[in-house]
Amino acid sequence: MDQHRDSGQPVPDWLSVEEALDRVLAACTPLPVSQLPVSDAVGRALAAGVASRVDHPPWDNSAMDGFAVRAVDVQGATERAPVRLPVSDDVSAGAFPRGPLAPGTAARVMTGAPVPAGATGVIRIEHTDGGLEDSVEIRADSDALRNIREAGEDLKRGETILPAGTEITPAVVGSLVAMGWPEVEVREAPRVAVLSNGDELADFDDIDEVLAGRRIMNSNEYGLAALIRAAGGVPVRLGIAADSAESVRRKIEAAPPFDALITSAGVSVGDHDHVKAALDALGLEHGFWRVRMRPGSPITFGVLAERPVFGLPGNPVSVMVTFYQFVRPALRALAGHDRLRPLTIRGRAAEEITSPGGLTYFFRVRLERGEQGLEARLTGPQGSGILRSMVAADALAIIPENRTTIAAGEELRMLPLREWLE
Ligand code: AMP
Ligand code: MG
Repeated sequence: MDQHRDSGQPVPDWLSVEEALDRVLAACTPLPVSQLPVSDAVGRALAAGVASRVDHPPWDNSAMDGFAVRAVDVQGATERAPVRLPVSDDVSAGAFPRGPLAPGTAARVMTGAPVPAGATGVIRIEHTDGGLEDSVEIRADSDALRNIREAGEDLKRGETILPAGTEITPAVVGSLVAMGWPEVEVREAPRVAVLSNGDELADFDDIDEVLAGRRIMNSNEYGLAALIRAAGGVPVRLGIAADSAESVRRKIEAAPPFDALITSAGVSVGDHDHVKAALDALGLEHGFWRVRMRPGSPITFGVLAERPVFGLPGNPVSVMVTFYQFVRPALRALAGHDRLRPLTIRGRAAEEITSPGGLTYFFRVRLERGEQGLEARLTGPQGSGILRSMVAADALAIIPENRTTIAAGEELRMLPLREWLE
């Protein structure tokens, strides 16, 4: 019912999706700093810039297995007119040259091994006879000035390589360790309280009521906990409040410490606003209610004792869409990330998609690889209570407020929900 309630009606005081996200982000400041072993820090954000403790590579080194030479000694060497040089050194990975390269000689070097001073290049082994004797035949001079990687070309000691706010990806883990850091300063992971509400809800301790058809499962709590974990937060479960402002308020007051709060349900007109009434009674500041989007328009937002609070709608798909659009960016802001807004991708509509217009619509779509890139097809009925079409979705297609028809083949912007296609 929610998805039809306001169709076609003017909605002058509702915020646009972008305005709402701006308001949310403006209310979120990074949590305190803590120290973590690098290997435990994946997904967190650096609290301060990180400088390298070393030059990497630490020495001029060979990019090839081959022979370090001076260009003057191999100039003009070809298959037909090879040049033979005595081998004066043999540097394997982990070893060091005996000294500078003696003029008129070659030094055998392995990939990554330091190149002796004076060498101008490394002749790859394929351009030699292999140099198995104590001399080597050079059969091409094309590498005479190549294949030496300079010391410090990747990292320079003292240089800030990673700015504050950088997300700790596997590449960042590798680079922190290469720079010599066993631990890093990161922002704490947000603890996110989750409160469901509705007299119709039950949890597993009451599953008989659900199986008897008298209640429905409190699935939002579990879906939200999973979303929170995937977004780098730690869920704090507050359970189910009854359909009254009093019950919602008491559950929030009794909650263990949290950095952000999410409630689901009880924010649409039909619910007599009891979540909003409870939040107002607790002193909610800087709030907004209603966003020009569907699903998810009745979302409520505000700040309670400096912590962001999201009153999400009750329908499971509305919960997920509003989480992706607003809560995830907010949790990233709390966790100190420098990139907060979701990546969108482009594709084409595989079939005509129509929307009532006036609101930004998020349609659940399945993606296929087509001849002109990604093609998006609706996953089925788009009602905000139909979680099945969310389960099947690879992305949310975003239909702007000013559009009512997207023709088959027309370009679309989408928020990806997966990283895998085939
Ligand atoms: P409401 O916003 O309270 O009108 O709820 C909208 C719809 O979402 C109703 O069909 C509710 O039964 C459903 N709903 C509310 N809370 C939950 C929940 N925690 N888990 C699953 N469905 C819910
Ligand atoms: Mg309800």
